[in-house]
Amino acid sequence: MLAHRAIVALVIIPVAACGDNLAAPALDAAPVCVLIQPPADDCSDPCLDERGPTLVAEIAVGDLALAPPPAGSTPIRVGLFYTIAPQPSNGWTNADAIARFRKIVVDTNDIFVQCDMHLEVEAAQVVALPARLLDLQGNEEGSFGGHPPPGTPDPDLFDYQQNERLTAESRELFAYGKLHTSKNAISAFTVSHIVYYSNQQLSEAGGLSNPPNIYHHVDDYPYRNSVILVPTYGACGALPGEVDRRTFAHELGHMLLNSGGHSTEFRNLMNDGTRLSTAQCTAMRANLDRLYGTAELPDPGPPS
Ligand SMILES: [Zn+2]
Repeated sequence: MLAHRAIVALVIIPVAACGDNLAAPALDAAPVCVLIQPPADDCSDPCLDERGPTLVAEIAVGDLALAPPPAGSTPIRVGLFYTIAPQPSNGWTNADAIARFRKIVVDTNDIFVQCDMHLEVEAAQVVALPARLLDLQGNEEGSFGGHPPPGTPDPDLFDYQQNERLTAESRELFAYGKLHTSKNAISAFTVSHIVYYSNQQLSEAGGLSNPPNIYHHVDDYPYRNSVILVPTYGACGALPGEVDRRTFAHELGHMLLNSGGHSTEFRNLMNDGTRLSTAQCTAMRANLDRLYGTAELPDPGPPS
């Protein structure tokens, strides 16, 4: 439907500095920025690339029509940010966005109910991102990314000692989330692709988390309270597809277990399924209170 897409002209008006003795220069003909048509494959566009994250649609949490949590269930506070390329698109509605957010919450709650926990949504937004953030550099070249060499005696201690940092792109994206959630809530963002190093090798990732055990530099707090999800992206400006049903729960598992590690247990959430053990539930509830509650704890210290 590219032929029907409106060409939007962005007008940049020069700002003049006007001191007491300075006359404002006459405004020349304002330069006009015309979007590339059809859009580039990666949705990059000189008219749009300098923009930061920009709100497109804010969904009222009540509009998600979520069932009330079971009595006694513990809330995990989250912000949900479905991101799109900044080109205009009339191909989706708020109802489509609501369906996407609802699915993420329902799928994740279906898993976390095993631990008597549920998502408490603080924000649900559709946000436009420039190409540099849609194709996100998740960590630095050569990072271990929570995947130490096989045979490492204490993987969590190894990860802690790497002192990995959020990338500039991650900080820009995650800072947006912190404007719309409480400090220790966990924000989830979709992106179209993640550049990610695992055990120093460039890898594909369907999701990415930044657990405090790995990302504990004080300047990265509280932005690291964020995870990334990778659904399928279509045309620039279109709403991406649905998120896999266990991806958000798995990334939350890393955050709440405070570890990049995985389970060897059959069908476990942190392996190849959705099950959670009693020990995992106990650890997650303790970390939820310690790391994602009201207390501020930029660095939880080395694992004991
Ligand atoms: Zn994982």
